[in-house]
Amino acid sequence: MKNEMNVNDFMQGIISKNPGELAFHQAVREFVENVIPFINDNTIYIKHKIMERIVEPERVIMFKVNWVDDAGEIRTNRGYRVQMNSVIGPYKGGLRFHPTVSLDTLKFLAFEQTFKNSLTTLSLGGAKGGSDFDPKGKSDNEIRKFCECFMLELSRYIGPNLDVPAGDIGVGGREIGYLFGHYRKIKNEFTGTITGKGTSWGGSLLRPEATGFGVIYFLEEMLKKINTTVKGKTIAVSGFGNVAWGAVMKATELGAKVVTISGPDGYIYDPDGIKGEKIDFMLELRYSNKDIVKPYADKYKVKFIPNKRPWEVPVDIAIPCAIQNELGKEDAQNIIKNKTICVVEGANMPCTIDAIKLFHEAKILYAPGKAANAGGVSISGIEMAQNSLHLSWTSEEVDERLKQIMKSIHDTCVKYGNEQNGYINYMKGANIGGFVKVANSMIEQGLV
Ligand code: GLU
Repeated sequence: MKNEMNVNDFMQGIISKNPGELAFHQAVREFVENVIPFINDNTIYIKHKIMERIVEPERVIMFKVNWVDDAGEIRTNRGYRVQMNSVIGPYKGGLRFHPTVSLDTLKFLAFEQTFKNSLTTLSLGGAKGGSDFDPKGKSDNEIRKFCECFMLELSRYIGPNLDVPAGDIGVGGREIGYLFGHYRKIKNEFTGTITGKGTSWGGSLLRPEATGFGVIYFLEEMLKKINTTVKGKTIAVSGFGNVAWGAVMKATELGAKVVTISGPDGYIYDPDGIKGEKIDFMLELRYSNKDIVKPYADKYKVKFIPNKRPWEVPVDIAIPCAIQNELGKEDAQNIIKNKTICVVEGANMPCTIDAIKLFHEAKILYAPGKAANAGGVSISGIEMAQNSLHLSWTSEEVDERLKQIMKSIHDTCVKYGNEQNGYINYMKGANIGGFVKVANSMIEQGLV
């Protein structure tokens, strides 16, 4: 038996077994670059073939979704659920409705989710699902119909102790309502099979805010380590969806100034900071189903920079909250040139491998999404706990738990990511910290 693994050989195997799945290759590479050196020092994981096993989804479900649009036309979309790993708890992860969704996207997201969920301290396995359905330009009626047809299929594969979906890009409170309502009708029972529910029907207080708030709590911990705070900092945020909204709200509350948000159409620059009713307006932008941010610039008379990303704006902190690979090499060069202190991922895998390399070389603090954006799924886990107890906790209680969880994730990153020169490699810390719990459980449970 070989008792040493090699990153490039391992990646060759991944590429030939999963041809064309570029996002999945990227997520695995980011992970194994940290984890393979670690397991070469801890060969029990090699003996148990953990790496070969951990990259294989336990189950992949793919189905067609037929529905009828407002014009009476039949439409066909693809639906998916990738159940990656259930060794530490029932499958858990969001649903994404976006035209870029493919099996590749969902495999990368389910892989990331597995280690993110492991970091939360809760008992949650990893999964992800969704569809290439594009909510942009759809009527409320079409969105509801699509959700119902999607759930008709998905309902066969999920359950409160099996797999508990939630939201992600394109799936917010409204879609969760339609999905849950239909699931309940199909199953004829009321269970906590979906999280992100409305607070009057089993949802947790603070779940909508949790991902963005968690990002800022994590950022506070990072800044504490270098003896500073969020207060007084200037921040660039990308995206304008759920994560961006929560992050802008919490950062502003803690005394920072967020000067940008963005959409596929470009970004807005608001030198006074996005605060008060402007934060509420972000919700309106989202519910308009138009997927553009320009109306913010029109309404508040600020600059709109079309077809560009906000990473050229000089700020202290950059928080990408939009989508995978939205921050590349050139953006990273701008960020470094502008002397930004840290980059915190609100989205899943928004920075490319090249960008991350540059951050590490420049010793800029960089936190990967699987650590920094874990607040959302954490409060989903707290929602599951409340559902099991048939109780609901106050927002203060939930907020306190969120803070504790984000601190604990930060501590894990420091434990495994502290380098000799005092620099904290959060990516290494998150990858190894997330891996150890899953891998040890796999060894303990036998050939799973
Ligand atoms: N989609 C979110 C994530 O990326 C939340 C998942 C959940 O709450 O299950 O973590």
